[in-house]
Amino acid sequence: MAPKVTYPQRMCVACRERFEQRSLLRLQCKQQQLLSFSGSGRSFYLCYECTKNEKKATRALARACKSGDMNYLSTQLKEIITDVRKS
Ligand SMILES: [Zn+2]
Repeated sequence: MAPKVTYPQRMCVACRERFEQRSLLRLQCKQQQLLSFSGSGRSFYLCYECTKNEKKATRALARACKSGDMNYLSTQLKEIITDVRKS
């Protein structure tokens, strides 16, 4: 018998693979602004492998945010990652 998975699994929007929720970066979009998840509203997840793949991550963010502003999205993603690592 396989051991039961007890951690919640979430899908990365870029590679569509499932990971433990705690190992993913949780993001959200408000009025096409990319933000780290604030505790309410819709959110989505990126795995850390995909955050390192800028093109792939940015394309996925554009889909999730319904925004075509790739420059903004990649800049904002980098800022969010930097903030997450500081805290
Ligand atoms: Zn991924």
